[in-house]
Amino acid sequence: MRYLILSDIHANWEALTAVLDGAAGAYESIVCCGDLVGYGPDPNAVVDWVRSNVAIVIRGNHDKAAVGLESLEWFNPVARTSAVWTQGELSAENREYVKKLAKGPLAVENFQIVHGSPLDEDEYLIGVAEVAQTFAYLDRNLTFFGHTHMQGGFIFTRGRIGVLRGAAWDGKPASLDLDPDSGYLVNPGAIGQPRDGDPRAAYALYDPESRSVTYCREEYDIASVQAKIRRAGLPDILAERLGVGK
Ligand code: ZN
Repeated sequence: MRYLILSDIHANWEALTAVLDGAAGAYESIVCCGDLVGYGPDPNAVVDWVRSNVAIVIRGNHDKAAVGLESLEWFNPVARTSAVWTQGELSAENREYVKKLAKGPLAVENFQIVHGSPLDEDEYLIGVAEVAQTFAYLDRNLTFFGHTHMQGGFIFTRGRIGVLRGAAWDGKPASLDLDPDSGYLVNPGAIGQPRDGDPRAAYALYDPESRSVTYCREEYDIASVQAKIRRAGLPDILAERLGVGK
């Protein structure tokens, strides 16, 4: 069974549908590492789609915020404004669904998914120092995570941490052959709000049989999403940052 690995969709319908077109035929099952909503203008379209297409899904911090499971006190003003807007938008069915989303880590076959880190769903795995501690607690060789919106990740091999890079700017996907003696923390990148300097929607494909992960990017109609964000009255910075991927 080949997997399409999604994370941080953030209510961006145009980015999600571009990824599904681009990845068509390359997978049999879909998993999602959380943050279905928040920031973007289409929370109901995205949650409707996830409900009927994604069996393996966990919650992110923005999902918790959108259904009152998290205090907004810790959110910056822009994230808070979009969380409050999303609370008012979600249909009753979608609110119930998001409320019941599982908390990671969630084990799937020979891998697991988490939103932030395997120890804390809200922790950002960015620096090698935090990651070194995290690897000590992993009970699976392969973990997919999100939350940082940066495609890539980390490899733990012979007692050392290395940094994994995502797809290159030339548009070609980057593939990673998994060594059975190494541990991996793989971030597919964000569908709906990339922050690694590449505005294209990010995702990954995982094939357990060939033991390979492929990092992919997909262009989408950013201008349409920016117009929707502005029409909804959401903070303008949320539209601007989609254009630069930061
Ligand atoms: Zn996120």
